Amino acid sequence: MSDPIPLFDVQAQYARLREDIDARLRAVLDHGRYVLGPEVSALEAALSELAGGRHVVSCGNGTDALILALMAEGIGPGDAVFVPSFTFVATAGAVVAVGATPVFVDVDSASFNMNAADLEARVATVPDGLRPRAVMPVDLFGQPADYDAIGAVAAAHGLAVIADAAQSLGGGRNGVPVGALAPVSATSFYPTKPLGALGDGGAVFTDDADRAARLRSIRVHGGETRDGVNSRLDTMQAAILLAKLQSFTADRDRRASVAARYDAAFAGHLGLQVCAPGVSSAHAVYGILSPQRDALAETLKAAGIASRAYYATPIHLMASMAARSAGPGSLPVTETLTSQILALPLYADISDAQADRVIEAVLGAGADGLSTAAQ
Ligand SMILES: *Cc1c(COP(=O)(O)O)cnc(C)c1O
Repeated sequence: MSDPIPLFDVQAQYARLREDIDARLRAVLDHGRYVLGPEVSALEAALSELAGGRHVVSCGNGTDALILALMAEGIGPGDAVFVPSFTFVATAGAVVAVGATPVFVDVDSASFNMNAADLEARVATVPDGLRPRAVMPVDLFGQPADYDAIGAVAAAHGLAVIADAAQSLGGGRNGVPVGALAPVSATSFYPTKPLGALGDGGAVFTDDADRAARLRSIRVHGGETRDGVNSRLDTMQAAILLAKLQSFTADRDRRASVAARYDAAFAGHLGLQVCAPGVSSAHAVYGILSPQRDALAETLKAAGIASRAYYATPIHLMASMAARSAGPGSLPVTETLTSQILALPLYADISDAQADRVIEAVLGAGADGLSTAAQ
């Protein structure tokens, strides 16, 4: 069997950037400002430059970034926050962590992102006793959600818009980068994200100086005037991220070119995530839809190719959400997509030859046939 192909390869990227990363880490070890040191402010400034958002507040991880954003809007018990269910569990988990209630919204079968018409319908039918307060769209797999359509629904109902941009740093819509698409956006530096630390990290982006001041205060216990948490990005991770920023755009473009190679090969054979004109993805994850998803994953495994049903269980069907969800059948598009989705290897260091091996294995597996969800 040929060499195994992983889903992501964070070690290959480290090997490529090792000299710079190691030198920056030694500098931190020597200067000794291990928490909120100078690299943290340098990173926040660089991120503001890269992704828009006049103010960038770094924090401990992407889940905390969402929690800080929710706390800065004063969202808590009795508040409904509209979220997709086809996402990582932390999207809804952050809402639960502040005592608010996630209300699940279905997604669009082409973009895999929140469906604004369904948002409108869920706002109209919010359970008794809950106040509609915010909507948290997710930029699934790196593709920014439709902030124009969602923003219009939010404005009509007085909802705050908090972007879960954990997967989409480096993407944009109509020339506006992720980080400036919503009044407040949260991202993650988990190692496999588009900008990945060698550990945990996260950040919140906003143009609003008052909101940024609240976020900074909440990040360090709230001071004496408000509730807060301890969620700082440590200096070592900031130093690593500054090194990774040097190749951030080139790495994203390489992932985009591998994704385009996959798209060209799979078009007409498998359901794919479609990017609307003007929308650019960060290409964090490459997902295909196959009605024979589990069999396909087994075939790939036998060929040494990693894949993952990402996300196999929509959040509204998790046992932990049973009391907050209308259960099976309540989000038909999400339920179909999660039954067919399979993530394939995508990372900057994958070679064209490896990508072609993935393509051959997928097309050779007899998993052809357009998925019903994607039509
Ligand atoms: C990764 C991720 C998060 C959480 O980020 P962590 O840094 O792991 O806490 C939240 N939402 C989405 C969509 C994610 O992919």
